[in-house]
Parts: sequence; structure tokens; C-alpha cells
Amino acid sequence: MKVAIVGGGISGLSTAFEIQKARAASPYLEYVLLEQSPRLGGSIFSERIDECLVEGGPDSFMTEKTSATKLCADLGLADHLVGSNDASRKTYILLKNRLIALPDGLMFMVPTKLMPTALTPLFSWKTKIRMGLELLHPPRPMQRDESVAELIQRHFGAEVVDRLADPLLSGIYGGDAAVLSARTVLPKLVEMEEKYGSLSRGMLAAYSSGSQPHPQTNGKPRRSVFSSLRGGMQEMVDGIEARLDPASIRRSTVVSRIDRVAESWQLVVDGEPQLFDAVVVATPAWAAGSLLAGLDPQLGIDLGDIPYSSSITITIGYGEAGLASLPEGFGFLVPASEKRSMLACTFVHRKFPGRAPEGIGMLRCFLGGARNSALLNDSDQQLESRVRAELKDILGITAEPRFVRVHRWRRAMAQYAVGHQERMTRIIQAVARQPRLALAGNAYLGIGVPDCIRTGQEAAATILRSF
Ligand SMILES: Cc1cc2nc3c(=O)[nH]c(=O)nc-3n(C[C@H](O)[C@H](O)[C@H](O)COP(=O)(O)OP(=O)(O)OC[C@H]3O[C@@H](n4cnc5c(N)ncnc54)[C@H](O)[C@@H]3O)c2cc1C
Repeated sequence: MKVAIVGGGISGLSTAFEIQKARAASPYLEYVLLEQSPRLGGSIFSERIDECLVEGGPDSFMTEKTSATKLCADLGLADHLVGSNDASRKTYILLKNRLIALPDGLMFMVPTKLMPTALTPLFSWKTKIRMGLELLHPPRPMQRDESVAELIQRHFGAEVVDRLADPLLSGIYGGDAAVLSARTVLPKLVEMEEKYGSLSRGMLAAYSSGSQPHPQTNGKPRRSVFSSLRGGMQEMVDGIEARLDPASIRRSTVVSRIDRVAESWQLVVDGEPQLFDAVVVATPAWAAGSLLAGLDPQLGIDLGDIPYSSSITITIGYGEAGLASLPEGFGFLVPASEKRSMLACTFVHRKFPGRAPEGIGMLRCFLGGARNSALLNDSDQQLESRVRAELKDILGITAEPRFVRVHRWRRAMAQYAVGHQERMTRIIQAVARQPRLALAGNAYLGIGVPDCIRTGQEAAATILRSF
């Protein structure tokens, strides 16, 4: 039995690792991981520059989604896990070129504490009064899907969309609140609206019933919100790669078509047809769509219609003196109304221990996203000067950097647009009609690294069950 896994990002690697483990009990099981690039890991890429750990793509994962921590334990990396420094966690929003700290008690964009909300300069009095009146919002039966912007605007007004929802979604996922599906991205809020009407009341009820863990216990964080690895996210990629059969890994290998031929799957691999018993497609959905269009044209269209955004990370290392004006905390998010290139900036050396040696600090700026992908065509030098000019304006940083590193990620982050669930139902049904075919990746059931690991593992389980 021979399984083809197309795509060697964390999703495809997770599939390969599961199949590798299953081989111990099934000696006739074979697999081959086909990755078009010369390296494995896809969007995950860590490197050392000037003794600093630079993450080109994801820098961490959400601890509460356990598939990543379990995978690390499975790889013998449990003692390499590091938690975010939540005690010094403070995030700002840029408003009229001033950094305003996010008020305490905000949960999933929903205010749950009266005083911090009343006192924050982030919102006008009109918005604060509206936030108070939101407690009286009547329950609303679940209707058609709508955008996150529509949901938040109905409850708290346009200012909260502009200053909170949109920067959070664009700064973290390169997304656009006006496009993203409320039902998919914020399902808990949609349920709360149906049950309680008010999202603030719903959130408070969830905490008191214990169904929503409160991140603060007696003012102290219970466990780190984000986790990473001492040697960077790349450790996960390298850890899996070290456990795979080297003969099963084919880098710099492009799959250009997938068809059903009699009882087998025929893949066109580097221009040559090859037969397999099963196939897991772990590429971005737009690539999966073009691979599978000949097999099922509607599936090809549905996959190809899932929007993706492109982004850029620019990491800049400074000597400590150069960052003297840096405020406390983890970083800041930039609303679109500020008309900056930057969507977000992380103070890397503050977020996790051990990212930079004593005397060096690192800022990681995030650009591009759903609304500004044209920036990807700028040269590294153009991007560097844009970002440095903005850092000077916002943070007063004028020092010469020790290093600057630019990473571009084209069409790498799926956007769960309004109607995502209906499209997913069609995709799941179409895939289920095909024997021994599975999909994995960030376009389907969650965009973060833990979600990708889970889809990869589930794809492997589906294939293994079918033999
Ligand atoms: C800048 C950035 C920051 C992020 N930050 C975070 C974060 O902090 N935390 C978090 O949880 N998530 C984060 N994410 C999201 C997360 O990193 C991704 O969703 C995840 O890594 C995607 O993994 P994947 O394997 O599904 O896809 P990819 O990593 O995109 O891998 C797909 C692979 O398929 C290969 N491929 C495509 N077509 C073919 C073909 N025809 N033949 C062969 N191979 C092919 C590609 O070369 C690629 O290697 C971030 C993403 C980006 C881009």
C-alpha cells in the first residue's frame, strides 16, 4: 500500500509522521512526501542571525490547542517548549500615532470589565455608552452567515471594528474583518448572541460556568497563552523530518495533476505519471484546487475559491541602547485608518525568553495582508526604509539596526470568508466520494499551526482506516 503526501509543510509532515508510526505494525505500508521546494516546513522557517532566533513565519502557537504540544512531546521536544512571558503581556493599538494599551478584560474583542472599558482612551464616550447598552441586546436566532465586522458593528459600533476587530484580525492573520466569516472565525460569539443576546453577558456567563477558561487567576496567568520551542518553530519540522524514512522524502519535486486511474491514484510528479493507492493533498487550497480540478471540476472550483492573503515579516535587530524608547509589553497593532504599511509589530525579545542574547532586542513587523499585498513586490530595501520610517514615527527609534531580515509569504494564509462553512460542507462531501483521498492544511478547519497538525493527523487516520 503506497500513500502519496503532496506538500511538506507542517500539515503534510504531520500526516507523514502518523503514517511512519503506523508502519511499525504494517510493514507493507509505504509513503512518499512530495514537496516542491528544496526545504520542508512550508511557512515555518526559523534561522539564527547575530545569535538571535529569527522566525520568518509563525513564531508560536496557542497553548490551549493541544495538538502542537502533544506532537512536541511525541518528538521528545517537551523540555524544549517555552511559554510566552504573559506576566509582561501588554498589547497596544496605534491611535492617531499614539500607542494605547488594550484595556484589561477584553475577551475575543468583547469587553467584560466595566472600569478599564470606561477609562480607556481607545474608544470615544459614544462608543463606551454603546458598549454599556450592549448588555441589553436581546437574543437573536442564528441567521445567515455575516462578516466579523457586521457582527461586532451590530453590538459595539464601527469604532470597535476599526480600532479593535480589524487590527486584531489583520495583525494576527493578515485578514479583513469585513470579509471574514463570523460563524467560522468567532463561532462562540455567534452562539452567545443566540443564547444571551449580549456578547458581554454571554462571555461573563461562560466564565462563571467554567465553559470558557478565564486566562487570569488571581491576577496571575494560569499558563502561557502562547508556546514556542527553544530553538524556534523549525524544531518541530526538523524533529519530524528526523523520524521519517529519508527514502520517503522527495524535495524539489512538483506534483502537477492528480487523477483516478482504475483502482489507483495517478499523480503527475515532475512531469512523470506515478501510481499510488492513496493520496493526501496537504498543499494550500488554491494549489489543491488546480491539482484536483480534472478529477472533480466543482471541487476544484470550491478549493480555488478559498481566498488567501500574502504577507511579509521584517525582523530588525538593534543594540539595547537603540531600543531605549520602547514601551513595556509585547507589541502593537495598527488599524487601517492609521494609513501605515505596518499591520503589527512584536517586541520579540520580550515575548519569549532566549530569543536574543543580552544587549540585543528584536522587532518583528508584519506587513501586507488582505488589503496591501502589492507591498510584496517592493524590494527588501524599499520595505526596510518604509518600516524604519514608521518605527521612527511611532516609537522614536532612530538607531542603525544590527541586522534586517525580510521574509515574504505569498498566498500562504487562508481567509475564512463569509459562507466558508457551506463551501466546506461541499468540499467534505466531494472528498468523501473519492476512495482514499484526504485533504490537510490551513484552509479548512483552522489556520494555526495546531489546527494544521490536527488536519494532517486526521488525514492520515482517514487513509489508514481505509486500508
Ligand atoms: C507570516 C506568517 C505568520 C504566521 N504566524 C502564525 C503563528 O504565530 N501561529 C500559528 O499558529 N500560525 C501562524 N501562521 C499560520 C501557520 O503558520 C500556517 O497556517 C501553517 O504553517 C500552514 O501549514 P501547511 O502545511 O498547511 O501549509 P504550508 O506551510 O503552506 O505548506 C504547504 C506546502 O505545500 C507545498 N506545495 C504546494 N504546491 C505543491 C505542489 N504542487 N507539489 C508539491 N508541493 C507543493 C509548498 O511548497 C509548501 O511547502 C502564520 C503564517 C504566516 C505565513
